[in-house]
Amino acid sequence: MTTFHIISIFPEMFDSYLNESVLRRGILKKKIKIKFYNPRDFVKSKHKKVDQIPYGGGPGMVMMTEPIVKAVEKAKGKKKKVKTIIFSPSGKEFTNTYAKKIQNSYKDIILIAGRYEGIDKRVKTITKAEEISIGPYVLTGGELPAMIFIDAVSRQIKGVLGNELSVEENRISSSEVYTRPETIKYKGKKYKVPKVLLSGHHKNISQWKEKGRK
Ligand code: SAM
Repeated sequence: MTTFHIISIFPEMFDSYLNESVLRRGILKKKIKIKFYNPRDFVKSKHKKVDQIPYGGGPGMVMMTEPIVKAVEKAKGKKKKVKTIIFSPSGKEFTNTYAKKIQNSYKDIILIAGRYEGIDKRVKTITKAEEISIGPYVLTGGELPAMIFIDAVSRQIKGVLGNELSVEENRISSSEVYTRPETIKYKGKKYKVPKVLLSGHHKNISQWKEKGRK
């Protein structure tokens, strides 16, 4: 089983996505486990503040080191081999190859989702985390990146997708897919399924799929 330890001040954001479809099945089948750690729970002050104004000025607030480091410590416990990731728009680009590598190498993965202007850099240094970007755009927080990460890594885990052949990278697949009916009439025009897919000729179908791959 792979456990994703999510550090976020908005754990409820994950509820709907994790409680449906493939990931829900993965959780029920005990292939994956999700645990939450809210940095606010590691703050003693009455208002549970986890952000402060940035040194050097600038707009927005910065997430403080201590609450996040304490949350990471809690997630780590006594585990020896743990991967810690901080989501950042300026991190290393997340790819399927990286998802596979992480899935093969770690059973415990700590995911730190930032908010506001980002996270105090000392969190990265202290926790020896790797900064990962989910793509060349800036989001309002690290929760969506964490969900994307969990989704992409989980589908690599044996038994999560149900049928091993569903993992596209393990077979010849195509992004151009069709289902019934064979012909669709829409606003006076006919839209047909490519003939080769109806031929039953596996070699030709594979070649067609291969050609369509980008
Ligand atoms: N000024 C910050 C910067 O450029 O690094 C922007 C921080 S962003 C508004 C707030 C949080 O969203 C980040 O700490 C990070 O966790 C997350 N985030 C935003 N875009 C992301 C991306 N493309 N990949 C990964 N995380 C992202």
